[in-house]
Amino acid sequence: MSKLIQGYEVVIGFETHTQLSTQSKIFSRAPTAFGAAPNTQACPVDLALPGTLPVMNQGAVERAIEFALAVGAHVAPRSIFARKNYFYPDLPKGYQISQYEIPVVQGGVVEFFLGATSTGSGQSEKRTVRLVRAHLEEDAGKSLHEDFIGQSGIDLNRAGTPLLEIVTEPDMRSSDEAVAYAKELHKIVTWIGICDGNMQEGSFRCDANVSVRKPGDPLGIRREIKNLNSFKFMQQAIDFEVRWQIDQIEDGRAIQQATVLFDPDTGETRAMRTKEDAADYRYFPDPDLPPLVIAPEWVARVKAGMAELPRAMAARFVADYGLPDYDATTLTQSKAMAAYFEQAAKASGQAKLASNWIMGELSRRLNAGEIGIEQAPVGPQRLASLIARIADGTISNNAARQVFDALWSGEGGDVDAVIEAKGLTQMNDSGALEQIIDDIIAANPDNVAQFKAGKDKAFNALVGQAMKASKGKANPAQVNELLRKKLQ
Ligand code: ADP
Ligand code: MG
Repeated sequence: MSKLIQGYEVVIGFETHTQLSTQSKIFSRAPTAFGAAPNTQACPVDLALPGTLPVMNQGAVERAIEFALAVGAHVAPRSIFARKNYFYPDLPKGYQISQYEIPVVQGGVVEFFLGATSTGSGQSEKRTVRLVRAHLEEDAGKSLHEDFIGQSGIDLNRAGTPLLEIVTEPDMRSSDEAVAYAKELHKIVTWIGICDGNMQEGSFRCDANVSVRKPGDPLGIRREIKNLNSFKFMQQAIDFEVRWQIDQIEDGRAIQQATVLFDPDTGETRAMRTKEDAADYRYFPDPDLPPLVIAPEWVARVKAGMAELPRAMAARFVADYGLPDYDATTLTQSKAMAAYFEQAAKASGQAKLASNWIMGELSRRLNAGEIGIEQAPVGPQRLASLIARIADGTISNNAARQVFDALWSGEGGDVDAVIEAKGLTQMNDSGALEQIIDDIIAANPDNVAQFKAGKDKAFNALVGQAMKASKGKANPAQVNELLRKKLQ
Protein backbone atom coordinates (compact mmCIF):
# COMPACT_ATOMS: atom_id res chain seq x y z
CA MET A 1 0.00 0.00 0.00
CA SER A 2 1.31 3.39 -0.83
CA LYS A 3 1.00 6.39 1.43
CA LEU A 4 -1.53 8.97 0.27
CA ILE A 5 -0.85 12.70 0.37
CA GLN A 6 -4.06 14.72 0.81
CA GLY A 7 -5.88 11.74 -0.68
CA TYR A 8 -3.61 11.52 -3.73
CA GLU A 9 -1.33 8.69 -4.78
CA VAL A 10 2.08 9.69 -6.15
CA VAL A 11 3.37 7.93 -9.29
CA ILE A 12 7.00 8.19 -10.38
CA GLY A 13 8.99 6.72 -13.25
CA PHE A 14 12.71 7.35 -13.84
CA GLU A 15 14.93 7.86 -16.84
CA THR A 16 18.61 7.80 -15.86
CA HIS A 17 21.52 8.76 -18.08
CA THR A 18 24.67 6.95 -17.03
CA GLN A 19 27.91 7.92 -18.74
CA LEU A 20 29.75 4.73 -19.59
CA SER A 21 33.33 4.44 -18.40
CA THR A 22 34.97 3.89 -21.78
CA GLN A 23 38.25 5.61 -22.68
CA SER A 24 36.94 6.83 -26.01
CA LYS A 25 33.61 8.03 -27.32
CA ILE A 26 30.74 5.88 -28.49
CA PHE A 27 31.28 6.46 -32.22
CA SER A 28 34.73 8.04 -32.40
CA ARG A 29 38.27 7.72 -31.01
CA ALA A 30 38.23 11.03 -29.11
CA PRO A 31 38.87 10.66 -25.37
CA THR A 32 36.04 10.98 -22.84
CA ALA A 33 38.03 12.28 -19.83
CA PHE A 34 36.24 14.97 -17.82
CA GLY A 35 37.56 18.49 -17.31
CA ALA A 36 39.79 19.09 -20.35
CA ALA A 37 40.01 22.57 -21.90
CA PRO A 38 36.89 23.27 -24.01
CA ASN A 39 36.76 21.67 -27.46
CA THR A 40 40.09 19.85 -27.14
CA GLN A 41 38.42 16.43 -27.06
CA ALA A 42 36.06 16.66 -30.00
CA CYS A 43 37.17 15.05 -33.25
CA PRO A 44 35.65 15.46 -36.73
CA VAL A 45 33.12 12.65 -36.07
CA ASP A 46 31.90 14.39 -32.90
CA LEU A 47 31.71 17.68 -34.81
CA ALA A 48 29.66 16.00 -37.57
CA LEU A 49 31.98 17.21 -40.30
CA PRO A 50 30.94 16.07 -43.79
CA GLY A 51 32.40 12.74 -44.86
CA THR A 52 32.81 11.32 -41.37
CA LEU A 53 31.11 8.12 -40.27
CA PRO A 54 30.36 6.74 -36.79
CA VAL A 55 31.90 3.42 -35.71
CA MET A 56 30.40 1.57 -32.73
CA ASN A 57 32.63 1.34 -29.63
CA GLN A 58 32.78 -2.34 -28.57
CA GLY A 59 33.48 -1.38 -24.94
CA ALA A 60 30.22 0.56 -24.74
CA VAL A 61 28.27 -2.47 -25.95
CA GLU A 62 30.01 -4.71 -23.41
CA ARG A 63 29.02 -2.34 -20.63
CA ALA A 64 25.41 -2.47 -21.76
CA ILE A 65 25.58 -6.28 -21.69
CA GLU A 66 27.04 -6.18 -18.19
CA PHE A 67 24.18 -3.98 -17.07
CA ALA A 68 21.63 -6.35 -18.57
CA LEU A 69 23.19 -9.28 -16.71
CA ALA A 70 23.26 -7.31 -13.44
CA VAL A 71 19.53 -6.55 -13.51
CA GLY A 72 18.31 -9.81 -15.04
CA ALA A 73 17.32 -8.18 -18.33
CA HIS A 74 17.18 -9.56 -21.86
CA VAL A 75 20.02 -8.69 -24.24
CA ALA A 76 18.52 -8.05 -27.65
CA PRO A 77 20.32 -10.23 -30.22
CA ARG A 78 19.79 -7.45 -32.76
CA SER A 79 19.14 -3.82 -31.93
CA ILE A 80 18.92 -0.70 -34.04
CA PHE A 81 20.38 2.79 -33.83
CA ALA A 82 18.04 5.62 -34.71
CA ARG A 83 18.35 9.32 -35.33
CA LYS A 84 16.48 11.50 -32.88
CA ASN A 85 16.14 14.84 -34.63
CA TYR A 86 16.09 18.10 -32.77
CA PHE A 87 17.87 21.41 -32.92
CA TYR A 88 20.19 22.36 -30.12
CA PRO A 89 23.30 24.58 -30.33
CA ASP A 90 25.43 21.91 -28.64
CA LEU A 91 24.25 19.15 -30.98
CA PRO A 92 26.26 19.73 -34.16
CA LYS A 93 24.63 16.98 -36.25
CA GLY A 94 21.11 18.28 -35.61
CA TYR A 95 20.23 14.80 -34.39
CA GLN A 96 21.30 12.49 -31.62
CA ILE A 97 22.15 8.86 -32.34
CA SER A 98 20.06 6.80 -29.95
CA GLN A 99 18.03 3.62 -29.93
CA TYR A 100 14.28 3.77 -30.29
CA GLU A 101 12.10 0.84 -31.28
CA ILE A 102 14.59 -1.92 -30.50
CA PRO A 103 16.88 -1.09 -27.55
CA VAL A 104 19.83 -3.30 -26.64
CA VAL A 105 18.61 -4.02 -23.07
CA GLN A 106 14.99 -5.01 -22.45
CA GLY A 107 13.21 -5.59 -19.13
CA GLY A 108 14.98 -6.39 -15.86
CA VAL A 109 14.35 -5.31 -12.27
CA VAL A 110 15.99 -3.27 -9.54
CA GLU A 111 15.33 -4.50 -6.00
CA PHE A 112 16.04 -2.65 -2.76
CA PHE A 113 14.88 -2.10 0.78
CA LEU A 114 12.83 0.91 1.76
CA GLY A 115 12.41 2.59 5.11
CA ALA A 116 15.39 0.99 6.79
CA THR A 117 17.98 3.10 8.62
CA SER A 118 21.72 2.72 8.54
CA THR A 119 21.75 1.49 12.14
CA GLY A 120 19.55 -1.42 11.18
CA SER A 121 16.60 -0.24 13.23
CA GLY A 122 13.12 0.41 11.93
CA GLN A 123 10.90 -1.46 9.51
CA SER A 124 12.21 -2.22 6.08
CA GLU A 125 10.19 -3.28 3.08
CA LYS A 126 11.49 -4.95 -0.02
CA ARG A 127 10.62 -3.11 -3.25
CA THR A 128 10.97 -4.08 -6.88
CA VAL A 129 11.03 -1.52 -9.68
CA ARG A 130 10.62 -2.96 -13.17
CA LEU A 131 12.82 -1.64 -15.95
CA VAL A 132 11.33 -1.09 -19.37
CA ARG A 133 14.58 -0.82 -21.25
CA ALA A 134 18.10 0.54 -21.36
CA HIS A 135 19.46 1.90 -24.61
CA LEU A 136 22.78 3.16 -25.91
CA GLU A 137 23.08 6.71 -27.15
CA GLU A 138 25.52 9.60 -27.47
CA ASP A 139 25.67 12.58 -25.11
CA ALA A 140 25.41 16.13 -26.45
CA GLY A 141 27.92 18.92 -25.87
CA LYS A 142 27.47 21.69 -23.32
CA SER A 143 26.31 25.26 -23.66
CA LEU A 144 28.17 27.57 -21.29
CA HIS A 145 26.24 30.64 -20.21
CA GLU A 146 28.56 31.87 -17.50
CA ASP A 147 31.75 33.85 -18.22
CA PHE A 148 30.30 35.27 -21.43
CA ILE A 149 28.57 38.61 -21.68
CA GLY A 150 25.60 38.57 -24.01
CA GLN A 151 26.85 35.35 -25.59
CA SER A 152 26.98 31.64 -24.93
CA GLY A 153 29.95 29.34 -25.33
CA ILE A 154 29.78 25.85 -26.78
CA ASP A 155 32.01 23.06 -25.46
CA LEU A 156 31.79 19.89 -27.54
CA ASN A 157 34.09 17.75 -25.38
CA ARG A 158 31.10 15.83 -24.06
CA ALA A 159 29.54 15.32 -27.52
CA GLY A 160 29.64 11.63 -28.32
CA THR A 161 30.29 10.41 -24.77
CA PRO A 162 28.56 7.02 -24.47
CA LEU A 163 25.38 6.94 -22.41
CA LEU A 164 23.20 4.10 -21.27
CA GLU A 165 19.71 5.51 -20.66
CA ILE A 166 17.84 3.33 -18.18
CA VAL A 167 14.04 3.67 -18.14
CA THR A 168 11.69 2.31 -15.46
CA GLU A 169 8.00 1.52 -15.42
CA PRO A 170 6.03 4.09 -13.39
CA ASP A 171 6.40 1.82 -10.34
CA MET A 172 7.49 4.19 -7.57
CA ARG A 173 4.99 5.65 -5.13
CA SER A 174 6.90 8.21 -3.05
CA SER A 175 9.97 10.43 -3.14
CA ASP A 176 11.58 8.10 -0.58
CA GLU A 177 11.09 5.15 -2.88
CA ALA A 178 12.40 7.12 -5.86
CA VAL A 179 15.57 8.10 -4.01
CA ALA A 180 16.07 4.53 -2.77
CA TYR A 181 15.71 3.29 -6.35
CA ALA A 182 18.22 5.84 -7.63
CA LYS A 183 20.71 4.90 -4.92
CA GLU A 184 20.34 1.21 -5.72
CA LEU A 185 20.81 1.84 -9.43
CA HIS A 186 23.86 3.97 -8.65
CA LYS A 187 25.23 1.11 -6.56
CA ILE A 188 24.72 -1.40 -9.38
CA VAL A 189 26.40 0.64 -12.12
CA THR A 190 29.38 1.56 -9.94
CA TRP A 191 29.69 -1.98 -8.54
CA ILE A 192 29.97 -3.51 -12.00
CA GLY A 193 32.20 -0.59 -13.02
CA ILE A 194 30.32 0.57 -16.12
CA CYS A 195 30.01 4.15 -14.78
CA ASP A 196 32.13 6.15 -12.35
CA GLY A 197 28.96 7.38 -10.65
CA ASN A 198 30.25 10.93 -10.19
CA MET A 199 27.05 12.93 -9.90
CA GLN A 200 28.69 16.38 -9.66
CA GLU A 201 30.42 15.77 -12.97
CA GLY A 202 27.17 14.57 -14.53
CA SER A 203 28.12 10.91 -14.93
CA PHE A 204 24.81 9.80 -13.37
CA ARG A 205 21.82 12.08 -14.08
CA CYS A 206 18.23 11.27 -13.30
CA ASP A 207 14.99 12.56 -14.82
CA ALA A 208 12.01 11.99 -12.53
CA ASN A 209 8.59 11.71 -14.19
CA VAL A 210 6.00 12.64 -11.58
CA SER A 211 2.20 12.51 -11.57
CA VAL A 212 -0.53 12.23 -8.96
CA ARG A 213 -3.95 10.58 -9.02
CA LYS A 214 -6.80 9.54 -6.80
CA PRO A 215 -6.37 5.84 -5.88
CA GLY A 216 -7.95 3.63 -8.52
CA ASP A 217 -7.92 6.34 -11.23
CA PRO A 218 -5.91 5.91 -14.44
CA LEU A 219 -2.42 7.45 -14.48
CA GLY A 220 -2.39 11.23 -14.21
CA ILE A 221 -0.57 13.63 -16.53
CA ARG A 222 3.14 13.67 -15.71
CA ARG A 223 5.74 16.39 -15.55
CA GLU A 224 9.36 15.42 -16.02
CA ILE A 225 11.99 16.94 -13.71
CA LYS A 226 15.23 16.98 -15.71
CA ASN A 227 18.82 16.32 -14.70
CA LEU A 228 18.69 15.70 -10.98
CA ASN A 229 22.33 15.32 -10.00
CA SER A 230 22.16 14.83 -6.24
CA PHE A 231 20.01 12.55 -4.08
CA LYS A 232 19.15 15.49 -1.83
CA PHE A 233 17.87 17.66 -4.68
CA MET A 234 16.01 14.64 -6.07
CA GLN A 235 14.00 14.31 -2.87
CA GLN A 236 13.36 18.07 -2.57
CA ALA A 237 12.37 18.40 -6.21
CA ILE A 238 9.90 15.51 -6.15
CA ASP A 239 8.37 16.65 -2.86
CA PHE A 240 7.89 20.16 -4.21
CA GLU A 241 6.48 18.89 -7.51
CA VAL A 242 3.95 16.62 -5.79
CA ARG A 243 2.65 19.46 -3.60
CA TRP A 244 2.52 21.78 -6.61
CA GLN A 245 0.52 19.29 -8.71
CA ILE A 246 -1.93 18.57 -5.89
CA ASP A 247 -2.46 22.31 -5.36
CA GLN A 248 -3.11 22.79 -9.08
CA ILE A 249 -5.68 20.03 -9.20
CA GLU A 250 -7.34 21.14 -5.97
CA ASP A 251 -7.61 24.64 -7.44
CA GLY A 252 -9.36 23.19 -10.47
CA ARG A 253 -6.47 23.57 -12.93
CA ALA A 254 -5.43 20.70 -15.18
CA ILE A 255 -1.80 19.53 -15.21
CA GLN A 256 -0.07 19.99 -18.55
CA GLN A 257 2.58 17.58 -19.64
CA ALA A 258 5.86 19.49 -19.37
CA THR A 259 9.56 19.32 -18.80
CA VAL A 260 10.63 21.17 -15.66
CA LEU A 261 13.85 22.14 -13.94
CA PHE A 262 14.56 22.15 -10.22
CA ASP A 263 16.17 25.28 -8.81
CA PRO A 264 18.10 24.34 -5.64
CA ASP A 265 18.22 28.02 -4.59
CA THR A 266 14.45 28.43 -4.41
CA GLY A 267 13.62 24.74 -3.83
CA GLU A 268 11.04 24.98 -6.63
CA THR A 269 10.46 23.34 -9.98
CA ARG A 270 9.89 25.56 -13.00
CA ALA A 271 8.51 24.69 -16.44
CA MET A 272 11.23 24.70 -19.11
CA ARG A 273 9.19 23.71 -22.13
CA THR A 274 6.02 21.85 -22.91
CA LYS A 275 6.81 18.27 -23.58
CA GLU A 276 7.61 17.00 -27.08
CA ASP A 277 5.95 13.88 -28.38
CA ALA A 278 7.93 11.08 -29.98
CA ALA A 279 6.58 12.25 -33.34
CA ASP A 280 8.34 15.60 -32.91
CA TYR A 281 11.69 13.84 -33.04
CA ARG A 282 11.07 12.19 -36.41
CA TYR A 283 12.95 9.07 -35.40
CA PHE A 284 14.26 6.89 -38.19
CA PRO A 285 16.95 4.18 -38.38
CA ASP A 286 20.42 5.68 -38.80
CA PRO A 287 21.66 4.64 -42.25
CA ASP A 288 25.28 5.16 -41.11
CA LEU A 289 25.21 2.31 -38.58
CA PRO A 290 24.45 -1.37 -39.17
CA PRO A 291 22.20 -3.19 -36.69
CA LEU A 292 23.98 -4.06 -33.44
CA VAL A 293 24.23 -7.85 -33.43
CA ILE A 294 25.10 -9.60 -30.17
CA ALA A 295 25.66 -13.35 -30.33
CA PRO A 296 24.91 -15.49 -27.23
CA GLU A 297 28.62 -16.37 -27.07
CA TRP A 298 29.46 -12.72 -26.59
CA VAL A 299 27.00 -12.45 -23.70
CA ALA A 300 28.49 -15.63 -22.17
CA ARG A 301 32.00 -14.23 -22.47
CA VAL A 302 31.01 -10.98 -20.77
CA LYS A 303 29.22 -12.92 -18.03
CA ALA A 304 32.30 -15.08 -17.36
CA GLY A 305 34.37 -11.95 -16.83
CA MET A 306 32.03 -10.35 -14.31
CA ALA A 307 32.61 -10.34 -10.55
CA GLU A 308 29.94 -11.48 -8.08
CA LEU A 309 26.94 -9.14 -8.18
CA PRO A 310 25.60 -7.40 -5.08
CA ARG A 311 22.35 -9.41 -5.03
CA ALA A 312 24.18 -12.73 -5.38
CA MET A 313 26.67 -11.69 -2.72
CA ALA A 314 23.86 -10.70 -0.34
CA ALA A 315 22.22 -14.10 -0.86
CA ARG A 316 25.54 -15.77 -0.10
CA PHE A 317 25.95 -13.74 3.11
CA VAL A 318 22.54 -15.02 4.23
CA ALA A 319 23.38 -18.62 3.33
CA ASP A 320 26.99 -18.78 4.51
CA TYR A 321 26.99 -16.46 7.52
CA GLY A 322 23.38 -16.77 8.65
CA LEU A 323 22.84 -13.01 8.37
CA PRO A 324 19.35 -11.50 8.15
CA ASP A 325 18.36 -10.27 4.68
CA TYR A 326 18.55 -6.68 5.86
CA ASP A 327 22.15 -6.99 7.09
CA ALA A 328 23.24 -8.74 3.91
CA THR A 329 21.71 -6.04 1.73
CA THR A 330 23.22 -3.23 3.77
CA LEU A 331 26.68 -4.77 3.81
CA THR A 332 26.66 -5.15 0.04
CA GLN A 333 26.16 -1.40 -0.47
CA SER A 334 29.66 -1.23 -1.87
CA LYS A 335 32.35 -3.72 -2.77
CA ALA A 336 34.64 -2.19 -0.15
CA MET A 337 32.10 -2.60 2.65
CA ALA A 338 31.35 -6.18 1.64
CA ALA A 339 35.05 -7.04 1.59
CA TYR A 340 35.53 -5.40 5.01
CA PHE A 341 32.69 -7.48 6.41
CA GLU A 342 33.97 -10.77 5.01
CA GLN A 343 37.44 -10.22 6.45
CA ALA A 344 36.10 -9.25 9.87
CA ALA A 345 33.63 -12.14 9.93
CA LYS A 346 36.22 -14.72 8.91
CA ALA A 347 38.90 -13.46 11.29
CA SER A 348 36.55 -13.25 14.30
CA GLY A 349 34.28 -16.18 13.53
CA GLN A 350 31.41 -13.90 14.64
CA ALA A 351 29.53 -12.83 11.52
CA LYS A 352 26.50 -11.27 13.21
CA LEU A 353 28.61 -9.30 15.68
CA ALA A 354 30.81 -8.12 12.84
CA SER A 355 27.73 -7.06 10.89
CA ASN A 356 26.32 -5.16 13.89
CA TRP A 357 29.57 -3.30 14.43
CA ILE A 358 29.99 -2.39 10.79
CA MET A 359 26.39 -1.20 10.33
CA GLY A 360 26.43 0.55 13.73
CA GLU A 361 29.57 2.06 15.27
CA LEU A 362 31.72 1.93 12.16
CA SER A 363 29.12 3.41 9.76
CA ARG A 364 28.26 6.14 12.24
CA ARG A 365 31.87 7.23 12.41
CA LEU A 366 32.37 7.01 8.66
CA ASN A 367 29.31 9.20 8.13
CA ALA A 368 30.37 11.70 10.79
CA GLY A 369 33.86 11.95 9.31
CA GLU A 370 32.55 11.81 5.73
CA ILE A 371 35.13 9.21 4.83
CA GLY A 372 34.88 5.96 2.92
CA ILE A 373 35.38 2.57 4.55
CA GLU A 374 38.73 2.25 2.74
CA GLN A 375 39.99 5.15 4.86
CA ALA A 376 38.69 3.77 8.19
CA PRO A 377 41.44 4.04 10.81
CA VAL A 378 40.27 0.67 12.21
CA GLY A 379 40.62 -2.09 9.64
CA PRO A 380 38.74 -5.40 9.53
CA GLN A 381 41.49 -7.36 11.33
CA ARG A 382 41.51 -5.04 14.34
CA LEU A 383 37.71 -4.97 14.47
CA ALA A 384 37.82 -8.78 14.41
CA SER A 385 40.21 -8.84 17.40
CA LEU A 386 37.87 -6.53 19.29
CA ILE A 387 34.85 -8.67 18.47
CA ALA A 388 36.70 -11.79 19.57
CA ARG A 389 37.20 -10.17 23.00
CA ILE A 390 33.49 -9.44 23.30
CA ALA A 391 32.63 -12.96 22.24
CA ASP A 392 34.99 -14.60 24.76
CA GLY A 393 33.66 -12.45 27.60
CA THR A 394 36.83 -10.44 28.22
CA ILE A 395 35.06 -7.11 27.71
CA SER A 396 31.48 -5.88 27.74
CA ASN A 397 29.87 -4.18 24.76
CA ASN A 398 30.20 -0.88 26.54
CA ALA A 399 33.88 -1.36 27.17
CA ALA A 400 34.31 -2.46 23.57
CA ARG A 401 32.94 0.89 22.44
CA GLN A 402 35.60 2.65 24.52
CA VAL A 403 38.29 0.45 22.99
CA PHE A 404 36.94 1.18 19.53
CA ASP A 405 37.05 4.92 20.27
CA ALA A 406 40.67 4.65 21.31
CA LEU A 407 41.60 2.62 18.24
CA TRP A 408 39.73 5.04 15.99
CA SER A 409 41.51 8.10 17.33
CA GLY A 410 44.86 6.38 16.94
CA GLU A 411 45.55 5.83 20.64
CA GLY A 412 47.40 2.73 21.77
CA GLY A 413 48.43 -0.28 19.77
CA ASP A 414 46.49 -3.49 19.46
CA VAL A 415 43.18 -4.37 21.02
CA ASP A 416 44.55 -6.29 24.01
CA ALA A 417 46.99 -3.50 24.83
CA VAL A 418 44.17 -0.93 24.89
CA ILE A 419 41.97 -3.17 27.08
CA GLU A 420 44.88 -3.61 29.47
CA ALA A 421 45.89 0.07 29.51
CA LYS A 422 42.35 1.25 30.16
CA GLY A 423 41.63 -1.47 32.71
CA LEU A 424 38.48 -2.52 30.88
CA THR A 425 38.61 -6.25 31.51
CA GLN A 426 35.16 -7.38 32.45
CA MET A 427 34.65 -8.11 36.14
CA ASN A 428 34.41 -11.87 36.28
CA ASP A 429 35.22 -12.02 39.99
CA SER A 430 31.80 -12.76 41.46
CA GLY A 431 32.98 -11.91 45.02
CA ALA A 432 33.71 -8.31 44.08
CA LEU A 433 30.46 -8.10 42.13
CA GLU A 434 28.45 -9.44 45.06
CA GLN A 435 29.95 -6.73 47.24
CA ILE A 436 28.84 -4.06 44.77
CA ILE A 437 25.35 -5.49 44.58
CA ASP A 438 25.00 -5.69 48.36
CA ASP A 439 26.02 -2.04 48.57
CA ILE A 440 23.50 -1.02 45.91
CA ILE A 441 20.67 -2.89 47.62
CA ALA A 442 21.53 -1.27 50.94
CA ALA A 443 21.72 2.20 49.42
CA ASN A 444 18.43 2.01 47.47
CA PRO A 445 15.64 0.80 49.77
CA ASP A 446 13.00 2.64 47.69
CA ASN A 447 13.87 0.82 44.47
CA VAL A 448 14.00 -2.48 46.34
CA ALA A 449 10.54 -1.90 47.79
CA GLN A 450 9.14 -0.94 44.38
CA PHE A 451 10.65 -4.02 42.80
CA LYS A 452 9.04 -6.20 45.45
CA ALA A 453 5.75 -4.44 44.66
CA GLY A 454 6.14 -5.72 41.08
CA LYS A 455 7.71 -2.77 39.28
CA ASP A 456 10.24 -3.90 36.66
CA LYS A 457 11.52 -0.38 36.13
CA ALA A 458 12.89 -0.35 39.66
CA PHE A 459 14.86 -3.50 38.90
CA ASN A 460 16.39 -1.96 35.81
CA ALA A 461 17.38 1.07 37.86
CA LEU A 462 19.24 -1.20 40.29
CA VAL A 463 21.03 -2.97 37.42
CA GLY A 464 22.03 0.42 36.05
CA GLN A 465 23.42 1.50 39.41
CA ALA A 466 25.43 -1.70 39.77
CA MET A 467 26.85 -1.33 36.25
CA LYS A 468 27.82 2.24 37.04
CA ALA A 469 29.48 1.26 40.32
CA SER A 470 31.53 -1.34 38.43
CA LYS A 471 32.56 1.40 35.97
CA GLY A 472 30.97 -0.59 33.19
CA LYS A 473 33.18 -3.58 33.78
CA ALA A 474 30.56 -5.91 35.19
CA ASN A 475 28.87 -8.39 32.91
CA PRO A 476 25.25 -7.17 32.66
CA ALA A 477 23.87 -10.70 32.46
CA GLN A 478 25.73 -11.64 35.61
CA VAL A 479 24.53 -8.50 37.41
CA ASN A 480 20.97 -9.37 36.48
CA GLU A 481 21.25 -12.89 37.73
CA LEU A 482 22.95 -12.03 41.03
CA LEU A 483 20.60 -9.16 41.76
CA ARG A 484 17.52 -11.28 41.15
CA LYS A 485 18.87 -14.01 43.40
CA LYS A 486 19.58 -11.58 46.23
CA LEU A 487 16.21 -9.84 45.99
CA GLN A 488 14.21 -13.05 46.00
P1 ADP B 1 9.20 9.78 -22.92
O1 ADP B 1 10.27 8.94 -23.53
O2 ADP B 1 8.47 10.61 -23.87
O3 ADP B 1 9.70 10.59 -21.78
P2 ADP B 1 7.96 7.33 -21.84
O4 ADP B 1 6.60 6.84 -22.09
O5 ADP B 1 9.07 6.50 -22.36
O6 ADP B 1 8.04 8.82 -22.36
O7 ADP B 1 8.10 7.46 -20.28
C1 ADP B 1 9.19 8.00 -19.70
C2 ADP B 1 9.15 7.73 -18.21
O8 ADP B 1 7.97 8.28 -17.63
C3 ADP B 1 9.13 6.26 -17.85
O9 ADP B 1 10.02 6.08 -16.77
C4 ADP B 1 7.70 6.01 -17.39
O10 ADP B 1 7.65 5.01 -16.42
C5 ADP B 1 7.32 7.34 -16.81
N1 ADP B 1 5.88 7.61 -16.86
C6 ADP B 1 5.05 7.42 -17.89
N2 ADP B 1 3.80 7.82 -17.57
C7 ADP B 1 3.85 8.30 -16.29
C8 ADP B 1 2.89 8.89 -15.39
N3 ADP B 1 1.63 9.07 -15.76
N4 ADP B 1 3.32 9.26 -14.18
C9 ADP B 1 4.60 9.10 -13.82
N5 ADP B 1 5.54 8.56 -14.61
C10 ADP B 1 5.18 8.17 -15.84
MG1 MG C 1 11.62 11.42 -21.12
